[in-house]
Amino acid sequence: MKIVLQQIEIEVAQGDIANQPGIDAVVNAANAELAPGGGVAGAIHSGAGPKLYEECRKLAPIKPGQAVITRAYDLPNKFVIHVLGPVYGKDKPEDQYLSSCYRKAFSLAEESKISSIAFPAISTGIFGYPPEEAVKVVFNTVLSELPNLKHLKRIKFVLFGEEDLHLYENKLKEISVG
Ligand code: ADP
Repeated sequence: MKIVLQQIEIEVAQGDIANQPGIDAVVNAANAELAPGGGVAGAIHSGAGPKLYEECRKLAPIKPGQAVITRAYDLPNKFVIHVLGPVYGKDKPEDQYLSSCYRKAFSLAEESKISSIAFPAISTGIFGYPPEEAVKVVFNTVLSELPNLKHLKRIKFVLFGEEDLHLYENKLKEISVG
């Protein structure tokens, strides 16, 4: 499902963040060390190959709410933007850290003149952020950032599970009816 807002396409789809051909930058729900791990980080590092971690090592550690950009190596993308989401119940206020992840990712994307970006549901896996709370933060942030985007023309949200997909689709419907 997709909508267009302020000439920017916003799409939600079920899928694997490590298999997003046609997208310039994929976002990694990273750990502080930018190391391979479980979930999204595991999928991204195994898709990109060992050179990704070689580059990442030099940039780590990062703090909650921060973002860094690297090449994407063997992934079908140009860049990976690594963000560290908040651990729910620990990095407070969680909504501000989560919002910062999306804002900083957009800002790095703009600096690199990227035209398309794909996000997973940051912090909602191992980091325990309730998905129905996270989705509100995500869309509030996206809506407030849209006017700052010059090069980005396509924002895709890649959800792993069907429940998350429905949460995002409902939110998109809400937005499109104003
Ligand atoms: P965090 O540590 O930030 O919580 P996780 O990687 O544990 O990050 O999970 C974030 C979300 O991404 C969860 O909803 C999880 O189900 C989902 N996810 C896990 N693997 C993938 C993947 N390969 N592609 C897209 N989403 C994924």
